[in-house]
Amino acid sequence: MQVFNLGSINLDHVYRVGRLPAPGETVAARSLSTGLGGKGANQSVAVARAGARVCHIGAVGPDGDWAVARLEGFGVDCGYVARLSTVTGHAVIMVDDGAENSILIHPGANRALGADWVAEALAAAQPGDALLTQNETSAGIEAAALARARGMHVIHTAAPFDAAALRDLLPHLTLLVLNALEAEQMQAALGCGLADLGVPEVIVTRGAEGADWHLFAQAEVIRVPAFPVRAVDTTGAGDTFAGYLVAGLAQGLTRAQAARRAAAASAIAVCRAGAAEAIPAGAEVDAFLATRA
Ligand code: ATP
Repeated sequence: MQVFNLGSINLDHVYRVGRLPAPGETVAARSLSTGLGGKGANQSVAVARAGARVCHIGAVGPDGDWAVARLEGFGVDCGYVARLSTVTGHAVIMVDDGAENSILIHPGANRALGADWVAEALAAAQPGDALLTQNETSAGIEAAALARARGMHVIHTAAPFDAAALRDLLPHLTLLVLNALEAEQMQAALGCGLADLGVPEVIVTRGAEGADWHLFAQAEVIRVPAFPVRAVDTTGAGDTFAGYLVAGLAQGLTRAQAARRAAAASAIAVCRAGAAEAIPAGAEVDAFLATRA
């Protein structure tokens, strides 16, 4: 099973500041660090680190070569990352001394991606392959509809949460992944429970409390306990979990095995600073699991 991931690629600019600026105020940053970001990029890195093949479908601008090289360095196939004339998506992240942050995201090339490009990328997909999406690019609905029509698994992580976008996607999904807050927002916005969405399988992740994988046809819930660890930075926990989960299914693991490996990978990731850089390699996850058998 091949994994295709239609996802965002961002340049993250992280500024350390004494305090966050108030409206109208200017503050000087003490330091700047730049890294690969975007939920899509993080999830592709997680799939690749887990040892599965992943083709990233996305877009960058003329300033995006560094991000593509970084993705390729992680083993992600970037043959369908378009080079557009618009700027690469980027995030300006200010972090103050109390670890409080303020984030501005400019989607740039991520939202300029055309459905034709996605169709070309998926032309080689086979029934049983997987399409992974999040809510940070254009062409998500066209991609999901096309993938489902081709008999692919269509897995969507509903972040950042947007009720209208999710409503249109639901008929095309085989698996929806929500965190606890998104599950609440979804139920409030759509006025229905998880079982009424029309999606065969839904996973709700609950941070250190683990996750529940609902299989509605079987009236079964797979409980996925989190591993107790001392977390230092939970950024990207959900992306690590989703990427490892899909990779596990692609590698022929059962749902319970794939979910356990995903929980272990994200437990390791939350013990490290950063997002993509914090995602562990498969061998490290297996060694971690061996100690918890
Ligand atoms: P984020 O937005 O921070 O990337 P999320 O809100 O999408 O994450 P979470 O529910 O926080 O996703 O976490 C996903 C999975 O990661 C959890 O189900 C759990 O397995 C693991 N995880 C997250 N936080 C912790 C933690 N503090 N300790 C151990 N495992 C964790």
